[in-house]
Amino acid sequence: MQSFRRAGLDYDTGLHYVGGLAPGQAMHKAFAQLGLLDLPWQRMDEDFDHVIIGGRHFTFRQGYEAFAEGLAKDFPHQREALQSYVRRLQHITASDMDVPAYDYLRQTFSDELLLNVVSAAAMKTELRRESLPLFNFAHTCSSYIESSWRLQGDGNLLVGKLVGTIREAGGEVRTGRRVVSLTETGGRIASAVCSDGETYEAGYFISDIHPATLCSLLEGCPSVRKSFRRRMETAENTCGMFTAQLRIKPDALRYFAHNVFVYDRPNVWTMTEENDPVKGVMISARAPEDGSDSLRQIDLLTPMPWHECEAWADTRVGRRGDDYKALCREKAAQCLTLAERYIPGLRDMVEQCYTSTPLTYRDYLGSPEGCAFGMRKDCRAAMLTFHSVSTPLANLLLTGGSVILPGIEGVTMTAFETCSKIV
Ligand SMILES: Cc1cc2nc3c(=O)[nH]c(=O)nc-3n(C[C@H](O)[C@H](O)[C@H](O)COP(=O)(O)OP(=O)(O)OC[C@H]3O[C@@H](n4cnc5c(N)ncnc54)[C@H](O)[C@@H]3O)c2cc1C
Repeated sequence: MQSFRRAGLDYDTGLHYVGGLAPGQAMHKAFAQLGLLDLPWQRMDEDFDHVIIGGRHFTFRQGYEAFAEGLAKDFPHQREALQSYVRRLQHITASDMDVPAYDYLRQTFSDELLLNVVSAAAMKTELRRESLPLFNFAHTCSSYIESSWRLQGDGNLLVGKLVGTIREAGGEVRTGRRVVSLTETGGRIASAVCSDGETYEAGYFISDIHPATLCSLLEGCPSVRKSFRRRMETAENTCGMFTAQLRIKPDALRYFAHNVFVYDRPNVWTMTEENDPVKGVMISARAPEDGSDSLRQIDLLTPMPWHECEAWADTRVGRRGDDYKALCREKAAQCLTLAERYIPGLRDMVEQCYTSTPLTYRDYLGSPEGCAFGMRKDCRAAMLTFHSVSTPLANLLLTGGSVILPGIEGVTMTAFETCSKIV
């Protein structure tokens, strides 16, 4: 998760909203323990997500009961199915790693449109009919239904707060250095060697990077068996995202504290396979920091598979050529066309548009193929695709979005699991 600044405004890359921050809910305790509840979280509209599919408009209401009742108004013949769905979301366990999310939804909802509607906001994970576990689907949807929150400010607030907590506890945070290799002595990592030549020794090492990238740093470690390496290096990755981050002219558009998911037609689960031209887009407005009604920033997001980027796989940021720029302009135009179904005339309100593709994420974050949600989880092979935070090296632990669950909730919960191995 990194932010960037252009012409006086900060833009986030991987933080649009967070779920379950109210007392007693999924993320409240964890954020309280991390000191993150003091940040300026803004509760989103009661109708926190809007879904537009093929011209019909639906809303997701905060609170499980309200969510089910709200959609039951549009689908009265599916009221019981909706109640059963929200009950299921509240009782997800590790055994749901083996359950195909799509099959579960098919068994629950006889109405194909409703199945698409309840899945529409899960664009923040990779929807794949054959492999996505119910465990991941439910975690992507559930906490947001409990309650949905947006940060009034950029993701640096969150990072700054965590860094402050580490410093208060006597720790030090060093950035701008890439770890280039790890050395082993007697089954334990002895040191991390950085790109600036510095070497760091420690009792424990925690890796937040993609596990396949980690394996490339473990080349000289005899305790890392081929089987572990092969499992990590050959694992499939989730798709990446294309984002168009729009700077809106002053006073052109009123702020709205909800997200909008616009789909051309009810093909939410197969869209990633045929998203050229763009068939679905998430619209997320940035909360104005001055508290005004007028917004200045909107993000448009859509999945973008790696094969659309492959022609530029050997290029680096800022040196990809005119064809790539043309592709980004075209994709942004397609996203705008869909977004205009919710905000008519949006393109005339745009002052500036900054685009990024999976190549951008790959180059800035080191994520293979620019995957947005880490390694793909597969309900048909849960044992192989969900990972332990432990590694073959006793003092090397994993954390981050590839291990169990992506997203702010996923990485927070995984971080607690990682820490539990030490304290
Ligand atoms: C477009 C987009 C929108 C999203 N929106 C949301 C949202 O609204 N809500 C939500 O909950 N989640 C969202 N997510 C998902 C969420 O951002 C990710 O799941 C989360 O950031 C993953 O965290 P991480 O720590 O695993 O990885 P990262 O945030 O990628 O952190 C890995 C860090 O490791 C660094 N690194 C890489 N290689 C090395 C090396 N060799 N040495 C040292 N450092 C290295 C990278 O620079 C990076 O800073 C979104 C993701 C994307 C792509």
